[in-house]
Amino acid sequence: MAHRIIIIGSGPAGWSAAIYAARAGMEPLLFEGSLSEKNQKNQTLPMGQLMLTTEVENYPGFPHGDLSQYLKSSIHEERFQYMAPHQKAGVSGPELVELMRQQAMNFGTKVIMEDVIKIETSSFQNERIFYIFDSNHQQYEAEAIIVATGARANWLGLPSEEHFKNRGVSACAVCDGALPRFHQRPLAVVGGGDSAMEEAIYLTRFASQVYLIHRRDNFRASKIMTEKVQKNPKITPILSFVVSEVLGNDSDGVTAVRITSVKNEPERILDVSGLFVAIGHTPNTAFLTGTLEMDDKMYIKLIQPGRTFTSQEGIFAAGDCADSIYRQAITSAATGCMAALDAERWLIMQ
Ligand code: NAP
Repeated sequence: MAHRIIIIGSGPAGWSAAIYAARAGMEPLLFEGSLSEKNQKNQTLPMGQLMLTTEVENYPGFPHGDLSQYLKSSIHEERFQYMAPHQKAGVSGPELVELMRQQAMNFGTKVIMEDVIKIETSSFQNERIFYIFDSNHQQYEAEAIIVATGARANWLGLPSEEHFKNRGVSACAVCDGALPRFHQRPLAVVGGGDSAMEEAIYLTRFASQVYLIHRRDNFRASKIMTEKVQKNPKITPILSFVVSEVLGNDSDGVTAVRITSVKNEPERILDVSGLFVAIGHTPNTAFLTGTLEMDDKMYIKLIQPGRTFTSQEGIFAAGDCADSIYRQAITSAATGCMAALDAERWLIMQ
């Protein structure tokens, strides 16, 4: 029998959609994603990008404070035992998304720890059914779908970058910055947006010095973040340069980066023990090619302003997979709620 609604994705959008769908009696089934090697490499593991974030200071409802008792009393002990110790400084990314998951489960959301690899649609006598195929070769049927698969980090695409991934090259300062290999060493961050600023500031906790390399002569990041970077004595911005090669060896990993000027200045070699790539994100929507209309960057197109309808009636989209502008936990959660309400109303009309 077909599920009333299937939700794909386990970040703030997916869990918020699940909370609303479950409370509306739609008994949602949510695909959380798998721990596959491919997902580990792409950093598209279950629970989304909040898993790669330390303190979350801008999610309403979680001011700075000690949440240890609250976390212990609200999250099921089976999962609580695997969580990193609470830092008593407000909510962390992993804690926030774990709380969302628990809330959705409390209302009866069923969770499958697999990736959705394909969706097919069949229409018979005015009844539309979606067939969902997962990474465990199982097939599910749904009357409506909410896609909330988020986005993942982009890479420069250099062979040397690939060669030194996990040996000094990273796309997540929060995940890797505290590793011993980076302790009190010079590091480089590439990018000019808010993520690059955030990564550079975060890395100053561990590094002796951080070079911030950007391909243009002004940053794209917000004024407040740019000012924080400019005021930080440990950060050296290097503008109008691109990283052209990551240098290193098998025993030490990364030892330097070669940077090339876009303004005919001489090439430079920066001695660094790590390169953190922070050059934007790609939505996790490849499995929807041919199913939904997307823009040139693979963000799902929403067909009506302010709503979550996609080009396929009965499929709704929420969160970063359909948002190239805001990409915040709070906006993702909000659109997850909107998608559940849109789906519920659409299902009633069928
Ligand atoms: P972004 O704003 O798209 O910035 C990407 C940066 O990477 C740009 O500066 C871009 O250069 C550079 N870039 C792209 N491809 C490159 C390449 N191949 N080689 C070298 N540089 C390259 O992405 P983001 O920083 O991840 O931010 C995404 C969104 O999340 C933004 O809306 C941002 O405001 C938001 N965000 C907010 C916060 C916060 O509020 N705390 C934190 C993180 C992110 P160009 O500038 O030349 O295009």
